[in-house]
Formats: sequence, structure tokens, C-alpha cells
Amino acid sequence: MSTSSCILEARGLRKSFGGFVAVSGVDLDVETGNIHALIGPNGAGKSTLFNLLTKFIQPTAGDIRFKGKDITHAPPAAIARLGMVRSFQISSVFLHLTVYENIRVALQAHGRDTWRFWRSERGLHRFDDQVHELVCQVGLEPLIYTRAADLPYGRKRALELATTLALDPELILLDEPMAGMGQEDIERTSALIRSLGGKHTVLMVEHNLKVVADISDRITVLRRGEKIAEGSYDEVAANEEVRSAYMGG
Ligand code: ADP
Ligand code: MG
Repeated sequence: MSTSSCILEARGLRKSFGGFVAVSGVDLDVETGNIHALIGPNGAGKSTLFNLLTKFIQPTAGDIRFKGKDITHAPPAAIARLGMVRSFQISSVFLHLTVYENIRVALQAHGRDTWRFWRSERGLHRFDDQVHELVCQVGLEPLIYTRAADLPYGRKRALELATTLALDPELILLDEPMAGMGQEDIERTSALIRSLGGKHTVLMVEHNLKVVADISDRITVLRRGEKIAEGSYDEVAANEEVRSAYMGG
């Protein structure tokens, strides 16, 4: 694969906790505009790899490039400013605020306007169009004035995604975006993530293999800290090592 088309490139990433190696020399290329899934059995090192890529933890060895820049030693805030944003769980949503207010706060936090401007007549409506666009994008129009605390679980996660999109990230990292969702929300969220492809790049950890098959352009499979397969869904599904990993190996 030509490296110039890759928004994120990791080489030889390794993380050990004491004597235990959680991620062992992993290379990863995420192509710009792709929906790229990271799968593997429990304990495979998926969340650790996410934490390494977003610099929440420091690698024991290896290096990471984002948009061609070496970010191996950059702090998480600098990486977010460059355009790599990790979607946090529901804890990132303000429960006492409405859907509208939550998205507006995210847009304000990302923008460069002053508090004085926001309190002005013009400032008050500065983000109305963008809030409306994001609300429609995640299908929350009927709930725009509902308090986040009163949203059903799947809709809260949709709001979480909207507040992430408000930061206009080039690369979005999602750790199990469908966890705990019912079928209807899984379908809505799958369609939403699929629609992000091309404009944004998405790297996601996901357990639901049907979802992975439906929406991923490329899949990386981890097992016991190592990359054991990579390719399209059909390619990785045909791999013997992947089959044995998913049969409890
Ligand atoms: P996954 O997300 O694929 O289920 P994790 O990345 O959470 O896997 O964990 C991979 C392995 O690393 C597991 O065996 C886990 O117990 C271990 N691990 C993760 N974080 C730590 C830590 N902070 N200290 C010690 N071991 C850890
Ligand atoms: Mg995990």
C-alpha cells in the first residue's frame, strides 16, 4: 500500500505492562477515507492499541505518524488539534443539557469566538445551522430539545457521536460504538458510520461481526497482542488463524 494515501501509520508498536506484552510489534496503516475495523477476541490488545494511537499511554517501542507527522511523542491534546479525535463514552455528554445545548457547547469549544461574542444577539445563533446539520446527521431531530439524561441509551450514543463530529475530525476513533445497543440503533449507527467514509476516516473497535462485514473497507485482526490478519472482510474471514481465534483459540 502506498504510504502517502494513509492518514495514520504505526510501525512496530509495542506495549508491555511489567512483564506482560499487551501489544507486540504491531504495524497499522489506515487509509484516508476508509472505515477501518479492529477486531479480535477479548484481551487481544485492541483498547491498548487505541490508547497508544491517541497517546493516552506511551508505547514501549515503535512509532506513529498522523498525516505524515511523527506524533510518537506528542501529547493527546496536540493530536486532537491535528484532527484525530477519539469518541469518548457517554461520560462526555452533559446530562443536564439538551441535545441542542450539548452540540452547541462542543461547537463553541472547538471554535475561536469569545464568551462576549456568544452572549451577543448574533453570537447566540452563531451555531444554529451547524447544530441543525449535526442533529439531522445523527437522526436526533425529534429530540433536539430533550435533556440528554432523558434520552434512551442508543440515542445518547448518537449524541456522543454528534459532539465528536462537532470537532470536525479527520480521523475518528470509536471503541465499540454499538456496545449495548438494540437492533434498531445498531442499524442507524452503522448507516451513520458508513456515511462518514470518504469525508472522514474512521478507525473502530467493534465486536459485532455483521456490522464489521457491512461497513468496513478494511479489517485488522489482533490476537494476544499480535496482528494476525488484515484485508477485506472476506479475506480475513477465510484466514485459518482468524477462524481458530474466534473459535476460542
Ligand atoms: P481488548 O480491548 O482487545 O479486549 P485490552 O487492550 O484491554 O484488550 O487488553 C489487552 C491485555 O492487556 C489484557 O490481557 C489486559 O489484561 C492487559 N492490560 C490492559 N491494560 C493493562 C494495564 N494497565 N496493566 C496491566 N495489564 C493491562
Ligand atoms: Mg477493549
